[in-house]
Amino acid sequence: ASGYTLLRDPHFNKGLAFTDKERDAHFLRGLLPPTSISQETQVKKVLQHIRQYQLPLQKYTAMMNLQETNERVFYKLLIDHVEELLPVVYTPTVGEACQKYGSIYMRPQGLYISLKEKGRILEVLKNWPEKDIQVIVVTDGERILGLGDLGCQGMGIPVGKLSLYTALGGVRPSACLPITIDVGTNNELLLNDELYIGLRQRRATGQEYSELIHEFMTAVKQNYGEKILIQFEDFANHNAFDLLEKYRSTHLVFNDDIQGTASVVLAGLVAGLKFIGGNLSDHRFLFLGAGEAGTGIAELIALETSKQTGAPVEEVRKNIWLVDSKGLIVSSRGESLQHFKRPWAHEHEPITNLLDAVKKIKPTVLIGTSGQGKTFTQEVVEAMAEINERPIVLALSNPTSQAECTAEEAYTWSKGHAIFASGSPFAPVEYEGNVFVPGQANNAYIFPGFGLGLIMSGTIRVRDDLLLAASEALASQVTQEHFDKGLIYPPFKDIRKISAHIAAKVAAKSYELGLATRLPQPKDLVEHAESCMYTPAYRRYR
Ligand code: NAP
Ligand code: MN
Repeated sequence: ASGYTLLRDPHFNKGLAFTDKERDAHFLRGLLPPTSISQETQVKKVLQHIRQYQLPLQKYTAMMNLQETNERVFYKLLIDHVEELLPVVYTPTVGEACQKYGSIYMRPQGLYISLKEKGRILEVLKNWPEKDIQVIVVTDGERILGLGDLGCQGMGIPVGKLSLYTALGGVRPSACLPITIDVGTNNELLLNDELYIGLRQRRATGQEYSELIHEFMTAVKQNYGEKILIQFEDFANHNAFDLLEKYRSTHLVFNDDIQGTASVVLAGLVAGLKFIGGNLSDHRFLFLGAGEAGTGIAELIALETSKQTGAPVEEVRKNIWLVDSKGLIVSSRGESLQHFKRPWAHEHEPITNLLDAVKKIKPTVLIGTSGQGKTFTQEVVEAMAEINERPIVLALSNPTSQAECTAEEAYTWSKGHAIFASGSPFAPVEYEGNVFVPGQANNAYIFPGFGLGLIMSGTIRVRDDLLLAASEALASQVTQEHFDKGLIYPPFKDIRKISAHIAAKVAAKSYELGLATRLPQPKDLVEHAESCMYTPAYRRYR
């Protein structure tokens, strides 16, 4: 591209940063005002502009406009101010953006595949302008964050997740493809909204649903090959578990809601235990919530424990208990349990409330993944503190209003003994002269580095051992100094370094297991990961 077209191309546009030489060489004379500024100045200018907005959604739209105008300034801004801008391009703001996607929709940012495209999905993939795709994030919009069915407007999620793949994990923007599969929506509000952008019909289910997904999965592999990473995102749990099970042996698939969550939470636990002492096998776990997050975390804890002790995973699972909306999961519930809950149905009398479950099971670790706020009551936290010297309490439900308890409640009710982390961020808390910094179990710690590790090694299947490697790599980044402040996660500002480290460990495991196809194996994998990472500095045009 040159001249006017060059200025309109977000991948190559530099705006006022084009030098005089570049303006001459690319027919830009007169198309720009005479001044020339640096990328740093551009970043500063946009940041000031974005900070002026009061409403998060305005900041979001400004960021999306920037991404569509000057991609390198967008990524530089996001990388340099990641703690400030992550909540703008991802949760919580992206949730509101999806709810209002119809009215703020300006340009397609990803690929829409609906029931109308049945039989022609391969053709649709070929319409996307970029050919060299390494990672797809796909949703069907049925369970967007904690907001439920947003149908086609779920597109904000793949778009946001992929911008984190680039900003945090260094995957090239042009190698990322956001996709929304539209099989309808059961959201009446959207079906009656004249600005709704999706199919106006109720969700297809059963065979019609699985046929469309299968055509999609087949077309993706045919078009991009064996090494394309497909990340499932925000599918309702009945489909999420089935899809992962069905495609994990034929495709490179990863479900962030199940596996990414599991890996990040396990990392926090491993880091915590490093400092309080003891092994995973010395602990007893109780979950409130037995869905994608809860059972995903439970299974990865069991696998890691089994790996550490050599005990069979079936044996280890007996130390892990889950409570769902009907109470403790016990064997007498039998056939009425969904299949993903059955491994956790142990022998026990039925218990319907959490406090009783805590008193009976006597967990050392309490994990909230039910999406229901205020469920870790004062009695519950006090009971945890009575049973344990250092109770581990993880309030993972999002958004903040749904957190099982606040950081302040966890520290106060446990008299400063709890080790606490949450899904949504909480500010530091002062309790009796000590300042506690609560960690955030953010999935963004894991998936960008995990994905980079798969991509750079040419891995063809995700195995649980790779998730364990990612957890261990993240946990190893937590120092005594972090822990002394109360943190079981490293500071997020170091995320690119952390991602490179995770990528290296995941790749190393993949080579070891023979899942990596990019040969020969690089000597220094951390160095290799760093050298693979996209950086948003401008390139010089000749
Ligand atoms: P999900 O698959 O829908 O699972 C929700 C589970 O909670 C189900 O087992 C459900 O029971 C149970 N539940 C609902 N109400 C309950 C109640 N009153 N008492 C006890 N259990 C109840 O959802 P998910 O994907 O696992 O997500 C759950 C929560 O975790 C969300 O708030 C999400 O934001 C959060 N999360 C956090 C992170 C993170 O911190 N990094 C990552 C992922 C998810 P039934 O099975 O009986 O319906
Ligand atoms: Mn998700």
